[in-house]
Amino acid sequence: LGPRWSVADIRRHLLDWYRGAARDLPWRRTRDPYRIWVSEIMLQQTRVAAVIPYYERFLERFPTVEALAAAPEQDLLAMWAGLGYYSRARNLQKAARQIVDGAPKATAAVVGEGEAAQVQVAFPSTYEAIRELPGVGDYTAAAVASIAFGLPHGVLDGNVARVFARLAADWSDISAPATRKRFQQWADALVDPADPGAFNQAVMELGATVCLPKNPMCLVCPLSGDCAARAQAIQSQLPVKGRRLEIVAEEKTYLLITRPGEESVNREKRSQSDRARSGKSSKRTQLGPANLDERTQSATPKPNPSKRTQFDHLPSDCWILLRQHEAGSRRLAGFWELPEAEHLPDLQPGRPVGEFRHGITRHDYHCTVREAAWKADAPEGFRWFRLSELELVPVTTAATKALRSLSLLHH
Ligand code: SF4
Repeated sequence: LGPRWSVADIRRHLLDWYRGAARDLPWRRTRDPYRIWVSEIMLQQTRVAAVIPYYERFLERFPTVEALAAAPEQDLLAMWAGLGYYSRARNLQKAARQIVDGAPKATAAVVGEGEAAQVQVAFPSTYEAIRELPGVGDYTAAAVASIAFGLPHGVLDGNVARVFARLAADWSDISAPATRKRFQQWADALVDPADPGAFNQAVMELGATVCLPKNPMCLVCPLSGDCAARAQAIQSQLPVKGRRLEIVAEEKTYLLITRPGEESVNREKRSQSDRARSGKSSKRTQLGPANLDERTQSATPKPNPSKRTQFDHLPSDCWILLRQHEAGSRRLAGFWELPEAEHLPDLQPGRPVGEFRHGITRHDYHCTVREAAWKADAPEGFRWFRLSELELVPVTTAATKALRSLSLLHH
């Protein structure tokens, strides 16, 4: 090993600390490789707190690898909607189908818990076989192999790389392939063969909760006596990361296009004829989002994007127009989202009713939602959905944010 570490000390310090400090996370209560694999895929690019509710809902809906393999794509995407990086969901299912169709039934663990665990589907039980699954890289294969099967493979993710760079006071660029290769060797050498799963989780936990990117908490760190960066007081300068992408700020406009449901139309007609009978003329001549029912009318505020609750009283039989990403799209194929102004060029966007920010790789979008009216049938690639069914529709993360900002989606 490069640095002058005492491997035995590092293992002991980390594992002693981890036994007392580990967060109680749902995927730490199981050795089921299916559940651990699902958690690892969800945790790629996504924070622990955001993953927990998705993880629980996903496993309730797909408790076994077979259930996942058999799921209709729309169900799968609906369960994933809001987590982002949707290729992860598709790869999960592709891998599940690969496991169900091709895994030798006699050699490995039973996949899934509870009743469905009676089905003898074998989850790949070697690092190499796990690594071959779609969507699984070195890190995920090592995590599943060590946590579910106790195999001595070290994990290396961003948290672990930061801990290593500091422990060794290493000034190499941690995004460089050569550095990652060297750090992977350290991870494999350090992992405790007596309990590789616990060791890997301990080092990741240290990076996630103590050896933080900014302001590492060295005073409470179990490795403070082993840490070269701390000894040299350079921990805040490490790790060194390669060239950062320049963030580009951009504007986007989404359209909120709704139309009333049959109930609302009838109610509106009744209300108009009541007013006609009582001699009052209706100020409203056209049905639209702002005049679907009395409550909405009275609650419609002045345009004020920071106060965005004016739509939560829309009746649930109301319809909303969404656009689907084409099946062959490189990103988000099959997902639904609010139309953008450019998709309906003949339409005049109305007042702003919501706003939110959305980041995609190096783009930082400031998104405005504007009301608009569309009287014709849904154009090709578009569809009217009832508000009441929105929770079941696989919508993009941007659409989730837009609909939440309008109080039209609550998960
Ligand atoms: S002593 Fe500080 S810099 Fe070193 S590993 Fe611990 S938290 Fe990180």
